[in-house]
Amino acid sequence: MAKRVHQVWKGSNIFFLNGRLIFGPDARSLIVTLLLILVPVVIFCAFVVINLIDEFPSNNPGYAILATTIIFTIYVLVLLLLTSARDPGIVPRNSHPPEEEFCYESSAPIEAGGRPTPSLQLPRTKEVTVNGLPVKVKYCDTCMLYRPPRCSHCSICDNCVERFDHHCPWVGQCIGKRNYRYFFLFVSSLALLCIFVFSMSAVYMKFLLDDYGTVWKAMKESPASVVLMAYCFIALWFVGGLTGFHLYLIGTNQTTYENFRYRADNRRNVYDQGCLNNFLEVFCTKIEPSRNNFHGYVQEKVPRPPKVPTRDAEADDSGGSRRAKVEDDLEIGDDILKLSQRRDFEEGGDVRSRGSDGLPRKSPDVELGLGLELQEPASLSGRHPSSLGRRNGN
Ligand SMILES: [Zn+2]
Ligand SMILES: [Zn+2]
Repeated sequence: MAKRVHQVWKGSNIFFLNGRLIFGPDARSLIVTLLLILVPVVIFCAFVVINLIDEFPSNNPGYAILATTIIFTIYVLVLLLLTSARDPGIVPRNSHPPEEEFCYESSAPIEAGGRPTPSLQLPRTKEVTVNGLPVKVKYCDTCMLYRPPRCSHCSICDNCVERFDHHCPWVGQCIGKRNYRYFFLFVSSLALLCIFVFSMSAVYMKFLLDDYGTVWKAMKESPASVVLMAYCFIALWFVGGLTGFHLYLIGTNQTTYENFRYRADNRRNVYDQGCLNNFLEVFCTKIEPSRNNFHGYVQEKVPRPPKVPTRDAEADDSGGSRRAKVEDDLEIGDDILKLSQRRDFEEGGDVRSRGSDGLPRKSPDVELGLGLELQEPASLSGRHPSSLGRRNGN
């Protein structure tokens, strides 16, 4: 029976609704995020807004606050779903290395016999032009492709993601080209929700203060307001700080990943097109359709024999022995075979046998999650604990 793409997916994503929704392997953390939003909102509605309705001379302001809270919370949750349940911009893996990019390594070591051992290599990097400036792109061993500019391999999801920003453990998904806008709107809306709940709780406390005379008595009358104000104050440091940080990143057209890399490498940002254009790029460009149809059926590919590029050098090598030539050809054939089958060997078997077990696999690629290294104290830096995939510079 034909399998669907999500059933043979090599990344460590989790799928729902037969591949219509895609999450990162840590999608379970979404439950925590949901509780962190919903529990305070429910407490706010049940213990603050309900009482606030009676405090105003007319009931209308109280009902307006209730309606605003409910509508805004639904809006935040929709943004959360749009961020975490969609393809962040995954570049589909190749089934074999790009043959047209093979070349002979000139700096091959010379064996004891004195004959250089030419080996078929894929250059680790390639140069492409972005906005008229050269940019180096790296080859991804896992996905068997040259990553487009700004693309990076997420070690948690085990996918190459376009315009990779970071892997957000709170939303359990990579933040990339296709969900960055929603991610920013989610975080900034959450900051606004915190401000709103804090302010309305403060208004209620003011009413109680007028009624009871002392702060202590007012606090005893509505402990929920006190807890909510403290909670929102702390949460605002996280989400407000994160909003500010991403406003800076959008204005300078950087991703979180690049921000760390640029600072480390002292590199120039070739994507910066001026503050206004950078904002327009994030908020006003059409989001490209996904390059993966997880719900669709797998297209059976006819295996083709590996193409061996001709070696000009060999034609001139009249002195070389026949035996050496045969050995070389065998090695070249072997190299291609090894390269194209490397993934299967490393992952230990056939694609079909793996299916969508949903188990996070360790990437044999040298992609290491920077994880904790970049988890700066969020309360100080204004970032939440996000982890970034990173190459360790092989
Ligand atoms: Zn990759
Ligand atoms: Zn990821």
